[in-house]
Amino acid sequence: RLISAAPASHQEEALERALRPKWLQEYVGQSKVREQLEIFIEAARSRAEALDHVLLFGPPGLGKTTLAHIIAKEMGVNLRHTSGPVLERAGDLAALLTNLEPRDVLFIDEIHRLSPVVEEILYPALEDFQIDIMIGEGPAARSVKLDLPPFTLVGATTRAGMLTNPLRDRFGIVARLEFYTPEELTQIVLRSAHLLNVTIDREGAFEIARRSRGTPRIANRLLRRVRDFAEVKADGRVTQEVADAALKMLDVDPLGLDLMDRKLLLTVMEKFSGGPVGLDSLAAAIGEERDTIEDVLEPFLIQQGYLKRTPRGRMATVAAYQHFGLGLPRNALT
Ligand code: ADP
Repeated sequence: RLISAAPASHQEEALERALRPKWLQEYVGQSKVREQLEIFIEAARSRAEALDHVLLFGPPGLGKTTLAHIIAKEMGVNLRHTSGPVLERAGDLAALLTNLEPRDVLFIDEIHRLSPVVEEILYPALEDFQIDIMIGEGPAARSVKLDLPPFTLVGATTRAGMLTNPLRDRFGIVARLEFYTPEELTQIVLRSAHLLNVTIDREGAFEIARRSRGTPRIANRLLRRVRDFAEVKADGRVTQEVADAALKMLDVDPLGLDLMDRKLLLTVMEKFSGGPVGLDSLAAAIGEERDTIEDVLEPFLIQQGYLKRTPRGRMATVAAYQHFGLGLPRNALT
């Protein structure tokens, strides 16, 4: 799968780490978020304080983990990485928190999947840098308050709406990451190609960029597949023609839609007469999880104007019919 939510393997994760920009300066695009962070980081640093807690939200692969690492680097502190589903018991979080150094960054990925007991511990930690932990068992058990060093929580989630209100309210900085433009992704592809020693020209990079669903993770992944193709089927150089041929072979269409995107749109148009169709019916019809549709597939299709979310369900737009060369239904949406 080219557009899956997470890195596909350990090997890919290692490659991603190698391609990750380390400083805010190198982080391409997201200019609004970058500008805000620059100011807040500089202010916190000059006061020698921890940065306010930061919530990053947006579809997978847009650079949330990268930004968390950059924040720690720019603040000159360590980053501890964990995720919502990994923190099963209150003690797991308490152990992490009590081991932080002053101003460290604690990064919690998929923070919307924290269990309620763990979330409960997090509130006073975020607000007052204190936690209550239980020591002992049975009648001898007592609760002890522990002071924590001031720290920064960076939370990442695919949808801000999935957080509980009390948790969301405790973030001083909330940043929404947007899909990248083809020009921004071209810069990312050229930078990655340089790091991976791939010979590529601007047109080749642009061809990959505009077919990457606005997502750096996908751009980097396609670059590696195109490189393989260039080495085996051409002279190793990635040009526009080579990129186009490779992406055709990978079933990435000229607009960057992959097999699942096309399946979703075609299902709405052909099985549900263009919609509206409810999320559960759609999930059953294409054999995907609801969450994958909402987090991964749909945001890009909506942003590109192929799909609309209406109160009665999802609908295909005129642009979707035109892309597939299908006749329009009478109630077609523009
Ligand atoms: P997320 O945490 O949102 O799923 P990541 O931070 O893991 O995404 O980013 C996925 C890949 O995309 C990483 O390899 C990273 O190098 C690259 N990437 C993400 N954002 C940028 C950016 N703004 N500039 C350059 N590369 C980026």
